[in-house]
Amino acid sequence: MSLLEVTDLRVSFPTADGVVQAVRGVSFSVERGQTLGIVGESGSGKTVLTQTLLGLTPGGQISGSAMFEGKNLVGLSPRAMQRIRGKEISVIFQDPLTSLHPLYKVGWQICEMIRSHDKSVTKKQAIERAVELLGHVGIPRPRERVNDYPHQFSGGMRQRAMIAMAISLSPKLIIADEPTTALDATVQAQILELLLRLQQESDTALLMITHDLGVVADIADNVLVMYAGRAAEKASKRDIFYQPHHPYTKGLLESIPHSSASNDRLKPITGQPPSLITLPPGCAFHPRCAYVMDRCLVEQPNLIPVADAGEHKSACFLPTAAVGLTEEAEDLRKQTVEMGRHAQAVKVAEAIAAAPESEGSVIA
Ligand code: SF4
Repeated sequence: MSLLEVTDLRVSFPTADGVVQAVRGVSFSVERGQTLGIVGESGSGKTVLTQTLLGLTPGGQISGSAMFEGKNLVGLSPRAMQRIRGKEISVIFQDPLTSLHPLYKVGWQICEMIRSHDKSVTKKQAIERAVELLGHVGIPRPRERVNDYPHQFSGGMRQRAMIAMAISLSPKLIIADEPTTALDATVQAQILELLLRLQQESDTALLMITHDLGVVADIADNVLVMYAGRAAEKASKRDIFYQPHHPYTKGLLESIPHSSASNDRLKPITGQPPSLITLPPGCAFHPRCAYVMDRCLVEQPNLIPVADAGEHKSACFLPTAAVGLTEEAEDLRKQTVEMGRHAQAVKVAEAIAAAPESEGSVIA
């Protein structure tokens, strides 16, 4: 049985302008110890989807199910959800300051998290655990820094502190919502390395939400690509990078920023995601799709297996192999997969650290 099994999840919000259909029938599963990357542009529904799993969509009309260890998270009372949040499912947000209170010491906040779920832990034990956790996530001199306030930490250190808080109760699932988007490339790489290491050490499952396919290149086992509230493509990371089928996935691959790419080689997807109140008929991607056919204008494609590849599914009417990558995109894809953009950034950071100061920057 999967750790998390989401089936036909739908979330909408009635507003004065109409109903926002944020999530429109999404299904996926997350296995123990594995990472699922959920990828899509802003407005694809990925964040609403994960907030729904955490019971953080007040006012949302929700249907479908999200079975976590035999419990349906959809329709769980706020109290029951509070018991699960932090202890069994924890979350790391893009901006640690949304989770770290500026007026309380970092260590105190980690202690509160630990003691709120286990009153038998004494304050002394909790502070020792906070010191241990801060050291484990790479905060230097944790016994001193445990008494710092969030503003005394750099952006990368705050994100590490958030991760310490997220793992403090040994959750079975961590949801990381754009955890590295606000960070520069080198710190981003270090945070992804840290998440990967912690996940491998503890066999925790990870749900990684991102707009950047490059982020999932190093870290994910499987990938779900979302567009306009629906799943556009679902496959192993290898299939997503080596045999993308949906034109939207192809567009995301072509727009991966890369350290060796000049700006003119990046190809952003043309057009904008549709309004989730007035969705286009047929395939929601059709106004932006270079392969659009007559039936795409009237028929909505379902997620079906690509040829015989059972686990690789795509919601597109195109036959297999119809969607090729441009030469430049193919080149970037290879570099991203084979070397890993983040692994590459770590290498650069290590080279900078190792270089004598008089040599200056090693970045050409
Ligand atoms: Fe493009 Fe049609 Fe496929 Fe939609 S179904 S992605 S419009 S080819």
